[in-house]
Order: sequence, then structure tokens, then C-alpha cells
Amino acid sequence: LISVSDVSKHFATDGGEKTVLSGVTLTLREGEIVALLGRSGSGKSTLLRCIAGLIAPSSGTVSYRGERVNGANPGTALVFESFALLPWLTVLENVELGLEAKGVRPAQRRERALAAIDAIGLDGFETAYPKELSGGMRQRVGFARALVVEPDVLLMDEPFSALDVLTSENLRSELVRMWSDGTMPTRTALIVTHNIEEAIQLADRVLVLDSNPGRIKAELAVDLPQPRDRRSPEFEALVD
Ligand code: ATP
Ligand code: MG
Repeated sequence: LISVSDVSKHFATDGGEKTVLSGVTLTLREGEIVALLGRSGSGKSTLLRCIAGLIAPSSGTVSYRGERVNGANPGTALVFESFALLPWLTVLENVELGLEAKGVRPAQRRERALAAIDAIGLDGFETAYPKELSGGMRQRVGFARALVVEPDVLLMDEPFSALDVLTSENLRSELVRMWSDGTMPTRTALIVTHNIEEAIQLADRVLVLDSNPGRIKAELAVDLPQPRDRRSPEFEALVD
């Protein structure tokens, strides 16, 4: 679905040039959830931005359904660590913004946004402003805004890092549930994290990005008996 081929990225710095990615090659197949692990500064966000088409690689290519991506990648939507919501807009308006960005006509935006809000557990919060919400609820808005466009691929950059442990576990379990019961419109995802447990809980496959040089150095398959039923026992104990 997505292929990244020999992608390098250099940034200009005071002292010259800094190489962040150096020949990254990876494939995201339809229906798989892949985690990208790596230390802070290893280039995970940079790689995700290249895949989303927010920045262009210095060399190499990103393709979506066999077509080279030039500019924003039409098959993807992003969820950010910092939520990136607009504070002066309500939950509903923030989610509608995702549709506006994809050129959906105003008449259709409301209904689709309401459905996405409902699906992610934000029913009743449509007219709230981000500052009135907890971190977990804000990130649900972040997910709703990305999922409302029904992207082929969901890209997530440390979506749980800003949340407390219980809120994070709660949201992760919910995503796992949505993937397993088919209520998640997007079946293919790439999730950046530096938490190995999070990677194992969510992903079918884990890639490790090494910082020197910025390249995929390892790949592991996650092989669980029930790959889509990964609610942790600790969490069950806390909520029951
Ligand atoms: P973290 O886990 O802390 O989020 P990361 O793996 O996402 O780290 P990146 O944000 O991709 O890492 O950054 C990798 C390196 O590239 C860092 O050293 C960063 O300073 C540098 N970098 C990122 N963006 C730019 C930029 N626009 N200009 C210059 N350097 C940059
Ligand atoms: Mg990052």
C-alpha cells in the first residue's frame, strides 16, 4: 500500500548538513499495523513526515498504491503526540476540519464528523472546546479528525506519550477493540513509539530505526495467539 524506497533526509544546520535518514526502505501492506521504534532523535518523526508528504525526502521515494508521492500523501492521515487541535474551534469543528482539508463538501461534513465523534467515544462532547477536555479526550478528537476522512493508512506519531498511564491504556485498548470488531475504518497503520510494550500490544510487526546511520536495523514479527485481543490484565484489574 505504501512503499518507502531508499529514503534519505538531510537537514541544513549551522555547521553544514545533518543526515537524519540514510537509505530507509520499508513496505506497509494493506491490513497490517506496524510499529516504528527508535530512540529519541533517531528520525522517527522525520520518516513519518516523509511518508505523509509533509516534507520531501532529500533522495529516495515514497509511493502510495504504486504512485510516487509528491506533496501531501492522499492515502494518509496523521495523529500527533501534541493533539494539534485548534483551541478556538469546538470538537465538531476540529473534526470537520479534517474533511475540509480533503475537499469534502460542507453539506456532507457534519454527518460524517458526528459519526466519527461517536465512534471514538466522544458522543456528547461535540460542542465542547479542547481546553474543556482531558488529555485523553483531546487525543480522541485527534483520532476522530484523522479517521473521519477514512484514510487508507493511519499514521500516528507517539499518540499516547502525552497521556497518563491509565488514559493511554484505555485508549489503546479501545483502538485494539475497534480493529478487532471492524468498527475502525482504517485497517492499515504505522505507529511511532519508543515504548516496546505499546508496540507489541498494537502491532503485527515492529521495525526498529537506528540513529547512526538513520536506517531500519531490525524487524520483528509479533506473534500472539490472539493478535487482536491484547487488553492487558493489569488494566482489566483496574477497571473492574
Ligand atoms: P523523538 O523520539 O524525540 O520524537 P524522533 O526519532 O522523532 O525523536 P526526529 O524528530 O525525526 O526524531 O528528529 C531526528 C533528528 O533530526 C533530530 O536530531 C532533530 O534535531 C533533527 N531535525 C528534525 N527536523 C529538523 C529540521 N526541520 N531541521 C533541522 N534538524 C531537524
Ligand atoms: Mg518524534
